[in-house]
Amino acid sequence: MSVIGYDLGNLSCYIAVARQGGIETIANEFSDRNTPCIVSLTSKERSIGSAAKTQIISNYKNTISNFKRLLGRPFDDPFVQNEMKDLPYKLSRTADGGVGVRVKYAGEDVEFSMAQVCGMLLTKLRSITEVNLKKPVQDCVLSVPSFFSEVQRRNLLAAARIANLNCLRLFNDTTAVALAYGIYKQDLPAAEEKPRIIIFVDMGHSSLQVAAVAFNKGKLKVLATSFDPYLGGRDFDRLLFNHFADLFKDKYRIDVRTNKRAELRLLIECEKLKKQLSSNSGRMTLNIECLMDDKDVQGAMTRTDFEALCAPLIQRVEKPLRTILQDAKLQSQDITSIEIVGGATRMPAVKSTIAEVFGMKVSTTLNADEAVARGCALQCAMLSPTFKVRDFTVIDCTPYSISLSWIAPMGEEGDMEIFPQFHPAPFSKMLSFYRKEPFALQARYTNAEQIHYPCQDIGKFCIDNVTPNQEGDGSKIKVKVRLNIHGLFSVIQASIVEKVISNEDVKPSTEAAEKVEKKKVKVKSKDLPFHSQLYMNITEQEIQHMFEVENKMIMNDKLECETSEAKNLLEEYVYDMRGKLFDKYEGYTTEQDRTEFGKILEATEHWLYEDGEDEMKAVYVDKLAQLKQVGNPILRRYTEAQARPAAFEQLGGAL
Ligand code: ATP
Ligand code: MG
Repeated sequence: MSVIGYDLGNLSCYIAVARQGGIETIANEFSDRNTPCIVSLTSKERSIGSAAKTQIISNYKNTISNFKRLLGRPFDDPFVQNEMKDLPYKLSRTADGGVGVRVKYAGEDVEFSMAQVCGMLLTKLRSITEVNLKKPVQDCVLSVPSFFSEVQRRNLLAAARIANLNCLRLFNDTTAVALAYGIYKQDLPAAEEKPRIIIFVDMGHSSLQVAAVAFNKGKLKVLATSFDPYLGGRDFDRLLFNHFADLFKDKYRIDVRTNKRAELRLLIECEKLKKQLSSNSGRMTLNIECLMDDKDVQGAMTRTDFEALCAPLIQRVEKPLRTILQDAKLQSQDITSIEIVGGATRMPAVKSTIAEVFGMKVSTTLNADEAVARGCALQCAMLSPTFKVRDFTVIDCTPYSISLSWIAPMGEEGDMEIFPQFHPAPFSKMLSFYRKEPFALQARYTNAEQIHYPCQDIGKFCIDNVTPNQEGDGSKIKVKVRLNIHGLFSVIQASIVEKVISNEDVKPSTEAAEKVEKKKVKVKSKDLPFHSQLYMNITEQEIQHMFEVENKMIMNDKLECETSEAKNLLEEYVYDMRGKLFDKYEGYTTEQDRTEFGKILEATEHWLYEDGEDEMKAVYVDKLAQLKQVGNPILRRYTEAQARPAAFEQLGGAL
């Protein structure tokens, strides 16, 4: 059984594997632990991860990046509409009103849903893991931004299924970091003592997440979370980009905003400059050759200027930090340390803002890039029946309050907050209703301001087969609701409580008393069927279909890979044979054979560059076999001749 944690970031992914010796992060085919979140489609195949990075500019229309944040959102969401303006690829509205991409793949115009694109990336991560572990992988824990709503979470789970992964838990980013921090701590306060409070801050490429976590021996409890889902490293890149785009308009008379390639190149350089400014306070330069209209451009910035430019963004970092103190009812003195992770926390201004708000130095003891993946792998190990890990309880919380409403037959409508904000999760609750007929419960996020998502609806849960009780009144109906391990709300059970009246003989208590007949009431529960209508649901059938489409693409990628290998083998053979035919094999062929074979080899070489450039695998395989029919006898004669002196020596020795 595999024990894997995947950190699916907006910019990059990390993979951690639990082995008996501990947790390790693993590298991809380019020996890099960081696999970029990029999917690139071409006329023949897909490149995903590091291989796709080279296509960002050359194949920008079909290269999809920054997509995690589009997952599970309606196409009409103002956020999506706004995001679309800066994306080099084209978004579309899918049949169910969600977000899709329109790309050219295998010579056709195709649409993929965001769940499919995420599934492609997860397929790549699975294959990297399988190559590394040399065995098939299925069970895993996937990271998820703590602010993701129901639909976003369901889409991520669907993506895992498309990639043939069995996601044991969608694990909130900051909870994963807290687990990676806490599980190895030997000195946590005992269960009955005051917990140790740690604040975790994760600022990545596209979002800022904060969690206040209480630790005791063998246990962590997330007290509260806060976030700015729209603030991350990329916003700093964009500010730099705007600055230089304006500058270059004046200085060089070029408008990079009108040229996608130039825009993308400048954005990449801005990110590099931003990183340099984290470790250097002096003047850092940005040089791009031939950015546009054959013009080389140059710009520069100091850290002070950068921080002045980004002051509004830096200010936004404060809000979630202050909110969490309020929400978790904490004072600075209650906090033992502030642990920061995520690439964007490397910016000195971000670090100092965090330190200022909490009145203490920030701690960077955790691996800023790998902590989330490590936490996920630990959680996977804890959930896996085959793996032994130290006992550690993880109590997470719901970031958003959830309410239920219902229409009652007598007109008295009900509405009730079922899980208040920061309620522990996973968690189940039992509710009772009195009903004569089937009824429905409507679940929704209570507060529109909390959710950072355009719709509060979660879904409708209908309880079927409800009948009146024997007296003709409402039957008692018990409904069990659950906030599950992935952070999803659902009804998991419904039952009707029936009174069963039985006539029993009761023994007289005194001899004089007559035998009396007494009625005894027993209570019996019977399960009721129920069904749900979830908001923007992905049906089982749709998942199955996307899974099949993904499998076809995997097969196609495999075939493409084998075809190019077969072509390479043929190419190598031609070069090798041509060189050797007139050199070391010369004495083992007649002149006529040599000339004829030489001509065939030359013709094959030309063919490879012209008509045979884009052929099926079998054509290359056949051609190589034909060449070998001529070449192998030569090779055999040569090898025998080489082995002859040694054979003579052996023979001589024996005589
Ligand atoms: P998210 O968590 O938002 O989904 P992610 O997990 O992919 O995204 P990270 O890998 O944690 O994000 O961080 C990437 C961001 O950190 C990028 O914007 C990158 O430019 C920025 N970053 C990385 N190193 C530095 C640095 N030294 N200085 C400034 N920014 C940096
Ligand atoms: Mg991240």
